[in-house]
Amino acid sequence: MPTVLIVGGGASGALMARHLWERAGGAVRAVAVEPGESFGLGIAYATPEDGHLLNVRAEAMGGFPDRVADFADWLRATGRGDDPKAFVSRRIYGDYLRSLAEPPLAAGALTVVRGLCVGLTETADGVVARLADGTEIFADRAVLATGNEAPAAGAAAESGWSRGAPPAPEATVLIVGAGLTMVDRVISLAAAGHRGRIVAVSRRGLLPRPHAVPAAPPAPLDPPLGRPVSETLAWLRREIARLGDWRAAVDGLRPHFHTLWRAWSADERRRFVRHLRPYWDVHRHRAAPAALAAVERARAEGRLQVLAARIAAVRAEGSGVAVRLRRRGAAAAAEIAADRVVDCTGAALDPARSSNPLLAALLAAGLARPDPTGLGLEVGDLGALVAADGRVSERIFALGPPARAGFWEITAIAEIRAQAAALAARLTAAGSAAP
Ligand SMILES: Cc1cc2nc3c(=O)[nH]c(=O)nc-3n(C[C@H](O)[C@H](O)[C@H](O)COP(=O)(O)OP(=O)(O)OC[C@H]3O[C@@H](n4cnc5c(N)ncnc54)[C@H](O)[C@@H]3O)c2cc1C
Repeated sequence: MPTVLIVGGGASGALMARHLWERAGGAVRAVAVEPGESFGLGIAYATPEDGHLLNVRAEAMGGFPDRVADFADWLRATGRGDDPKAFVSRRIYGDYLRSLAEPPLAAGALTVVRGLCVGLTETADGVVARLADGTEIFADRAVLATGNEAPAAGAAAESGWSRGAPPAPEATVLIVGAGLTMVDRVISLAAAGHRGRIVAVSRRGLLPRPHAVPAAPPAPLDPPLGRPVSETLAWLRREIARLGDWRAAVDGLRPHFHTLWRAWSADERRRFVRHLRPYWDVHRHRAAPAALAAVERARAEGRLQVLAARIAAVRAEGSGVAVRLRRRGAAAAAEIAADRVVDCTGAALDPARSSNPLLAALLAAGLARPDPTGLGLEVGDLGALVAADGRVSERIFALGPPARAGFWEITAIAEIRAQAAALAARLTAAGSAAP
């Protein structure tokens, strides 16, 4: 039976497994490899905290591009909620993702192997995965659903995605980054009874914008393709002025984003990430109003300070660290003594510096190469890996975050479910997973 190997059991792995099942039923076998205990949760949905909310309304979080209301329907059917407009906790979304994997698991069409994939080779008629314990898995094709790379752990900082013991209630916590992961962390600290000072630092000090209540529909847009980033931005500004609603314009751009991205040269893509990304992220990846309200509460109570600053130096001091900050526009640097530093800067992008043994092995074997932008692996259509010699793989595909360099906006459920559905169609074409 044709077999598809899925490396990684987060949201992408679960969606891939379900879409293969939707397409082929039991005619294609999926084998998923995941080192963690749970299948389907990954970084985003393993949180046990109810205060960690989805940043998208339930009605848009379904696992299927042609049934986006599926999650809201599941909430109602399972008695977990009946408001499709709600921003539900990510823990509950994790239950939904696990439920998506249940039919193929129960039918024996999906097998989950607990392990870490450390190598993948292509043979004349398939792929062979090697796990850390020496196990080999043979398959026809492979999907890398290895997810977001946590930033390299610094000596002084913990990852914003980690779930270590909370700091002492009076501890000073420095959060590097002011995006959605910072919002999560402020909520976690409050839930743990933290009363100390929190300082969130990012270069521009921008906070995620809130969703509108009620939601407004995206505007139909026709963006110019292959134009410099500066011209595209000028066009977007005109559209925002014309519509009188930035959310409608940003959301209207979303369906065109992949075409826009792929029409830009590597230089323009880099330019977008260097100059526009902070602004794009806070407008495009908006926060649930209740989550932002918790942040505003902490600011109003003087517990949280958000600074636009660069970190100039960090040195150990006592049991904590002393951090030198250069605030935007300030002549002199300031110093903050922090008991804990939390890195909420988001995923590390450069695969050449990845700590994931599989990515390192693929690069070393020449089966993958870094994208010229330095933003991830180079991928072709549907996330097919591009090898060191430029050959586009027929057998190995990156799904979701590892395909970021090729599409940029590919890390949210809306894009992952669309890519998983399209990949499932390709991998099961003519009822066969073989090329
Ligand atoms: C905190 C947070 C909140 C988010 N909130 C939302 C939201 O509200 N709405 C939305 O649409 N999107 C949201 N997203 C974005 C999106 O849902 C995630 O990017 C998505 O969950 C990615 O899932 P993934 O499976 O690709 O990656 P991950 O969650 O990173 O999972 C990857 C899995 O692969 C495994 N793995 C990695 N390497 C190997 C290997 N070598 N061998 C075997 N297994 C391996 C890991 O153990 C891990 O379990 C959020 C993201 C984050 C981080």
